[in-house]
Amino acid sequence: MLGGVRPSGSRRSWWLREALAAEAAAAPHLASAAPPLRGTTTADVVIVGGGYTGMWAALRATELEPNARIVLLEADICGGGPSGRNGGFVTNWWDDYPTLIERYGADGARAMGDAMEAAVDEVGAFCDAHGIDAWYTKAGSLSVSAAPAQDGSWDDAVASLREHGLGDRYVPLTAEEIARRVRSPVLRDGAFMPGAATVQPATLARGLRRVLLERGVVIAEGSEVVEIDGVRPGSLGKLGASARRAPSRRGNGQGIRPVRVRTRSRAGDGEVLAGSAVIAINAWAAGWPWFAQRLVTWSSYIVLTEPIPDRLDDIGWTGGEGVADARFTLHYLRTTPDGRIAIGGGGGRAGFGGRIDGVFTDALGDARRAAAGLRRLFPSIADVRIEDAWGGPIDISADHLPWFGSVGMRPINYGHGYSGNGVGPSLVGGRILAARALERADDPALALPLANGRAPRRFPPEPARFVGARLIREAAARRESMEERGEDPGFVLRELSRLPRRIGYHLGPD
Ligand SMILES: Cc1cc2nc3c(=O)[nH]c(=O)nc-3n(C[C@H](O)[C@H](O)[C@H](O)COP(=O)(O)OP(=O)(O)OC[C@H]3O[C@@H](n4cnc5c(N)ncnc54)[C@H](O)[C@@H]3O)c2cc1C
Repeated sequence: MLGGVRPSGSRRSWWLREALAAEAAAAPHLASAAPPLRGTTTADVVIVGGGYTGMWAALRATELEPNARIVLLEADICGGGPSGRNGGFVTNWWDDYPTLIERYGADGARAMGDAMEAAVDEVGAFCDAHGIDAWYTKAGSLSVSAAPAQDGSWDDAVASLREHGLGDRYVPLTAEEIARRVRSPVLRDGAFMPGAATVQPATLARGLRRVLLERGVVIAEGSEVVEIDGVRPGSLGKLGASARRAPSRRGNGQGIRPVRVRTRSRAGDGEVLAGSAVIAINAWAAGWPWFAQRLVTWSSYIVLTEPIPDRLDDIGWTGGEGVADARFTLHYLRTTPDGRIAIGGGGGRAGFGGRIDGVFTDALGDARRAAAGLRRLFPSIADVRIEDAWGGPIDISADHLPWFGSVGMRPINYGHGYSGNGVGPSLVGGRILAARALERADDPALALPLANGRAPRRFPPEPARFVGARLIREAAARRESMEERGEDPGFVLRELSRLPRRIGYHLGPD
């Protein structure tokens, strides 16, 4: 089904290869501009993680305090993780409005919706301002039903938005209206989110890196953080990460002990002593004792077709909209300027104990599931060649929303839990983290309810978490496939797949 293509494993995704090739052609000196850390250095803020969250945080820190010394540590290269591997959907949160109201109240939900909508535009404005050709296309996003069981999955969100005078943020569409944007024999009704965009995700990540280097941020790639304040991943360490209302203390020479971050790289060991720290390591956070109980890691795989612009014309999908079906094991698909389709999802599975291993990068079966989704949705292009496949880890929280906080009373700030929807939200997350790290209590980002939210529910400990997640995932995937074939999944499968919701998690099918 993949025609001999295998998931890229630790090899770079197609997006990142493309971005790195363009970077090498335009500015070859950038490749060696972020050597590994060696020896001891100091910083006002040390940032762990060179994905969008860490890089937006660094960018914001340079705006808030241009003279601050910012050191960013990345185990791989910036954009080597999900920020250079994702689907490139820059979405807002209007489709999750009922959950936002439940979590933040009506005013808070509105504030969060507005912030996430603005973030989509800000990504585009950032690319424009810095000459980053990340294919930013604001053509909106379609939620579609691909089986009767998925019909009207957006009804609650649409109704809630209407009730609050926000009906234009997420608009229901009939099957005919969907077909005017994309034709498929299995697509039914849907909803349209006009305020969404797509990007070439890795070009955005590498563009961020370039701007940070231009602003004097010290970036050390190939530098894995192995210890923060005496705590190591997998160790028992000091538990008890808590969210605080506002940052109040920094280790900046005012009597607070600096944060000590140790690294390991091919160049040797390194160490940063910093006034404050930002931990922006996404799914890898599940391996650190502070966060292990509140995150489940989950894989997602993408396949990319050869360029097929004429075939896109045939199915009428020429407007650049992102498309996602309403499965729990959802398919998300988008086009590229040269006429390819990238489709992801359709499966995925939980990792064990916070380990980020081959489950997230080498699972041929999961990549095949994404390709099977393409063929089901568009049988008329079933013969197209798949050119590349890759996967990455997702950081699932109990309510599918990220959260931000600090570790105990230390100036160590973190943000994660985007649950597979972090491209736009990470810009807001970066602002929150920069404001926390630099103690800007009056920063507008810290007024957002997200900045002060409570931590989500814990997940059961391992191995129960792993076994439970796998069981429920199998039940959900099987149920959804049966529903797509018009078969009745039966009581047991239906109830098993609903179990997470029944016990209070905002996860899994209803
Ligand atoms: C296949 C896939 C498709 C997705 N599609 C979409 C989409 O279309 N739209 C959307 O909104 N979201 C999507 N997501 C989610 C999105 O990619 C993430 O939410 C987002 O990239 C998070 O950014 P981040 O900076 O927090 O994390 P990351 O990009 O994961 O960055 C974290 C970085 O931390 C580094 N790191 C980890 N541990 C250490 C350590 N100990 N020391 C140093 N560095 C460390 C990692 O190497 C990594 O580079 C997708 C994710 C995947 C995997």
